Amino acid sequence: MDRSIAIVGSGPGGMYVAQALLEKAPTSRIDIFDRLPTPFGLIRGGVAPDHQHTKRVDQKYADIFVKNENVRYLGNVELGRDVTIDDFSAIYNAVVLAYGAPFDNKLGIPGEDNKNVFGSNALVGWYNCHPDFLDLNPNLDIDGVVVIGVGNVAIDVARVLSRTPEEMATTDIADYAISAIDASSLKEVWMVGRRGPIEAAFSNTELKELGALADATSVVDASVIPAEVPTDFEEREKKARGRILDTLRGLADGKAGEKRRTIHIEFFASPVEILGGDTVEGIRMERTKVVGGRCVPTGETYDIPCQMVVTCIGSRAAAIENLPFNERSGIITHEDGKVSPGIYAAGWLKRGATGTIGTNRLDSYAVADLLISEFDGPAKPGPNAFDNLVVERGLKPVTFDDWLVIKDLEEKAATDPAPRRKFATVEEMLDGLGGA
Ligand SMILES: Cc1cc2nc3c(=O)[nH]c(=O)nc-3n(C[C@H](O)[C@H](O)[C@H](O)COP(=O)(O)OP(=O)(O)OC[C@H]3O[C@@H](n4cnc5c(N)ncnc54)[C@H](O)[C@@H]3O)c2cc1C
Repeated sequence: MDRSIAIVGSGPGGMYVAQALLEKAPTSRIDIFDRLPTPFGLIRGGVAPDHQHTKRVDQKYADIFVKNENVRYLGNVELGRDVTIDDFSAIYNAVVLAYGAPFDNKLGIPGEDNKNVFGSNALVGWYNCHPDFLDLNPNLDIDGVVVIGVGNVAIDVARVLSRTPEEMATTDIADYAISAIDASSLKEVWMVGRRGPIEAAFSNTELKELGALADATSVVDASVIPAEVPTDFEEREKKARGRILDTLRGLADGKAGEKRRTIHIEFFASPVEILGGDTVEGIRMERTKVVGGRCVPTGETYDIPCQMVVTCIGSRAAAIENLPFNERSGIITHEDGKVSPGIYAAGWLKRGATGTIGTNRLDSYAVADLLISEFDGPAKPGPNAFDNLVVERGLKPVTFDDWLVIKDLEEKAATDPAPRRKFATVEEMLDGLGGA
């Protein structure tokens, strides 16, 4: 019997559930919804514009729609705005929530609400042309920026703010963003982490890129780099961390001020206050040390002058309707992906904002297995009933073919060698479809 499944969110979490369902329950009818007209979540709006190779995973996701008539894309349909969980539950045998975790965690320190203090989701969304952040207007008439965090997203932010227009020519960064970054008087980019080089969350590949920028030098204080990785790591992990230490040693030879911008990689410092009134004038940091794996404050503070702060300290999901939500972890409450009968969760909404694109694959496959094992009762009306709802409510879903039109228009609007020039607003996208 054909069962129907609604997947809410077309990022990696949702797309891998669809892929697993196609393999394990191939006669299912699958509708994948997204609040934006454009599919694939953070692949488009999060992954750095100069990492086009990473974004290419979207071709695999696109194939899911192209090769399977029983899978539909319905963009521009938002759970909570256009449809409710009850609507979905009445129409589909199962609902998979995969709407991500897009809300920046807070530092919880004074000054955080000042102008020119942004979370990474906001700043990354701005330079990636995400419709939610077009009006962010960061003031880049600045000398210094402090990026809080030492993970890959922090490296993305520090790197993109330090790239030249020539380096970004092969990317799909928003025109307004690269113009503002190029026009900026920015000289000092500080990337600061609470812990040390051994505990840093970035990968060696991303770190190495900081040593190969056209007009920015990355520097790190050699004295904080340990001679070797402690023995209590597994061999594989020990090697990976050893490579990071090697890269850091290479960066320690860099000279601040040698190029237009300097990226200072700082460890063992935690922010305590963002200084200045309405505008940012600096950030007060407290020195830390790592004792027995725990980060401990030392009481010694120092200030870094800066006029902008970007926090890259993770993000959280939001509760939707009456579904149970774990406020502490910022994820939906679930047991192995099951939220309540017939309702499942996947991706960052389920696990929190950690891991790579690939991490979602294994996890989403497990959720699909559970969902299939719990298929129960008669088939529900499925996609046809959703089409009736579209008419009743006057919704304007963007189909996969519509998305291909948007994609084609964006590619045609690009200046060679850029891959695409993204539409800025949802209205422009819909206008591109002939005011659909
Ligand atoms: C800045 C940044 C850079 C990253 N770079 C990399 C990288 O280089 N390599 C890597 O491996 N991983 C990277 N990641 C991690 C990777 O992007 C995530 O693992 C992955 O995107 C999580 O997938 P998801 O489907 O859970 O969420 P998302 O990708 O966020 O997808 C959620 C989708 O749900 C939609 N949605 C939200 N609310 C609703 C609603 N109410 N109704 C309908 N739809 C809704 C959203 O529009 C979105 O399309 C990066 C993450 C970030 C934040």
